[in-house]
Amino acid sequence: AKQAGRNKLCAYNIQMQAHINARAVLETELRQALQDKQFTLYYQVQVDVSGNVLGAEVLLRWLHPLRGWVAPADFIPLAEETGLINELGEWILAESCKTLAVWAQSPVSSDLTLAINVSAKQFNQHHFVEQLAVLIGHYGCNPQQLKLEITESLVLGDIEEAIAKIGKLQGLGVRVSMDDFGTGYSSLAYLQRLPLSQLKIDRSFVGNVLTNSHDAAIIRTILLLGDSLGIDVIAEGVETEQQRLYLLANGCRYFQGFLFGQPEPLPDFERRIDAIALS
Ligand code: C2E
Ligand code: CA
Ligand code: CA
Ligand code: CA
Repeated sequence: AKQAGRNKLCAYNIQMQAHINARAVLETELRQALQDKQFTLYYQVQVDVSGNVLGAEVLLRWLHPLRGWVAPADFIPLAEETGLINELGEWILAESCKTLAVWAQSPVSSDLTLAINVSAKQFNQHHFVEQLAVLIGHYGCNPQQLKLEITESLVLGDIEEAIAKIGKLQGLGVRVSMDDFGTGYSSLAYLQRLPLSQLKIDRSFVGNVLTNSHDAAIIRTILLLGDSLGIDVIAEGVETEQQRLYLLANGCRYFQGFLFGQPEPLPDFERRIDAIALS
């Protein structure tokens, strides 16, 4: 039994070591990817009740020279742990500001918004707001067209700090949306104190809205909450017309999901906008 125990321990160590090595490799590759510009941004359309395009959510993609596409879920946590997310995040903000400045030149795109995911680590840098203000000034984009998607965990770290920061962003004209809403630990007490512009219903609830009465109840609660706090609510992960109709019937006015469009490269998103303008 002792021997078996030792073998087990040994196998565990080998597994641990393999895991640590894989992480070290991935970390090196992430740095390389930043240098070699292997990252690209995809854009997923957001619409209102009439199907009018409001803008897009910006989603990060990594095309690794050997591995192919690597999903954000497989590298963003490590980018956060290593601090690389700060550099990566600044690049995403810069690209987004640049895109908005270009869009401002054309009547078909001059009012569109970009929703950008900001990780907790990035948001919590003490100069985050100043950094964003510099980028906005540098590219000359309209801050009203920028929306930052943050998560509840970020707020829980230091609520007073988060309130102050979101207030500063609001002062700049930048809007803030609470992403993955319903999956965290939001309490009404602090939600009411955060100057949010939007709540985003997580797709885990939307996907089950027609089959799981519990998830449907959560969705209705979020919609009522948004209504009573005067905060817009958008649903993500809308894949079917039935889901859209359920959301609509319960007061949801903004939507995102495969039903309206997949995340796509910038030229494809721009063609979509042009095609709608022509139709
Ligand atoms: P998220 O912010 O909740 O983004 C929504 C995810 O749902 C995206 O996955 C999107 O491609 C996917 N999606 C959109 N519509 C549908 C749908 O109708 N059905 C289904 N099944 N999925 C849909 P993605 O692009 O793989 O991103 C995963 C997560 O990675 C994001 O979750 C976000 O937390 C993070 N992420 C992505 N881009 C960035 C970024 O630029 N910065 C940071 N910090 N995080 C990012
Ligand atoms: Ca998001
Ligand atoms: Ca989500
Ligand atoms: Ca998220």
